[in-house]
Amino acid sequence: MKCPRCKLDLTTTERYKLKVNQCPSCHGMWFEQAELGELEDEVFDFGDRWKGSLFIDSTVTADQCPECSAQLQKFQYRFYDLQMEVCPNQHGYWLEADEDTRVLELMKREEADLRRKLLAEDKWAATLRHMRSGSFFSRLRDKFTK
Ligand SMILES: [Zn+2]
Ligand SMILES: [Zn+2]
Repeated sequence: MKCPRCKLDLTTTERYKLKVNQCPSCHGMWFEQAELGELEDEVFDFGDRWKGSLFIDSTVTADQCPECSAQLQKFQYRFYDLQMEVCPNQHGYWLEADEDTRVLELMKREEADLRRKLLAEDKWAATLRHMRSGSFFSRLRDKFTK
């Protein structure tokens, strides 16, 4: 599997409790869409923030999906002001280097504010697992086809 930008082979590494495919050069990360069955078991409750428009500003990029070479579409995930790119054929999505760290910092700040017991790392892992789910991708597809 190649980096959408550098075309170098991605290597498997672990970041914040999740296995990711990372580019050794630009350090961007590719997340494959997980098996649907596995994710049916996940239960998420992020409350009202999941309602309404989760995605804004989708645009086509020059980056290519490692699996099908389709051009990735960049979008912003409103929940955490997170920018990422996604394969229109639902193979997965691409995060730039340290974008996960930035989001994690946001989450940690929020945890402190709300005095929740959930660890930010766990929440981030749960968020990414949700993003790999079928429902997340179908929402994205709805967004792109509007
Ligand atoms: Zn790269
Ligand atoms: Zn693809």
